[in-house]
Amino acid sequence: MKRRADPSSKSCGACNLCCIELPIETPELRKKAQTPCSHLTDKGCGIYANRFPICRQFLCGWRLFPELGEEWRPDLSGIMIVQVAQADLPDAYRPAGHGMQFLVVGGEDAVTRPGVAEYVADQVSRGVAVYLTANTPRALINEYLPAAASRDLPTVRRIVLHLYRLLMAARAKKGFLGMLPHFYRLHVEKQRAAVKR
Ligand code: SF4
Ligand code: SF4
Repeated sequence: MKRRADPSSKSCGACNLCCIELPIETPELRKKAQTPCSHLTDKGCGIYANRFPICRQFLCGWRLFPELGEEWRPDLSGIMIVQVAQADLPDAYRPAGHGMQFLVVGGEDAVTRPGVAEYVADQVSRGVAVYLTANTPRALINEYLPAAASRDLPTVRRIVLHLYRLLMAARAKKGFLGMLPHFYRLHVEKQRAAVKR
């Protein structure tokens, strides 16, 4: 779903991930996640001049957020950030404005790439709601990252990778409910760490 002018100077270039990865449910266009849009060609959108309103309106986080450099372009980074509307967030996160959903499509290399832990830690320390998804139900991960406040980036990287692996395991084997015990265990570990401090 691309490409309209935006406040930044970025352009989608060769990226077309949103036309493949995102589910779309509108009267004009329906597609499943992880499925190329039927209008997508090897040269980009085949109906670009007449593309649908949803396609004209959408910009991924890389297009929206000027602090994200070229290395964050979704097809290069393997991570598509999608802005989450303030109204869709739990109350505790609304004061920080919109949330961010990190959709990982590039595997563990994408999750552990330099700069990812730093950016996640920045958002978490600012109180921004951060969700992680691997084309699974998204998980709000702020509570698992107390290490963000102290800029303990190796721990942030390790926890994000662990959460990603849980999502992938759930996707492959058990379904989302199957990973709730793992999230519970992480929660308990976090509480124990807090008690020890
Ligand atoms: S209509 Fe074009 S811009 Fe919209 S999702 Fe399909 S390929 Fe992408
Ligand atoms: S994911 Fe972002 S950069 Fe890629 S085509 Fe969509 S809007 Fe453009």
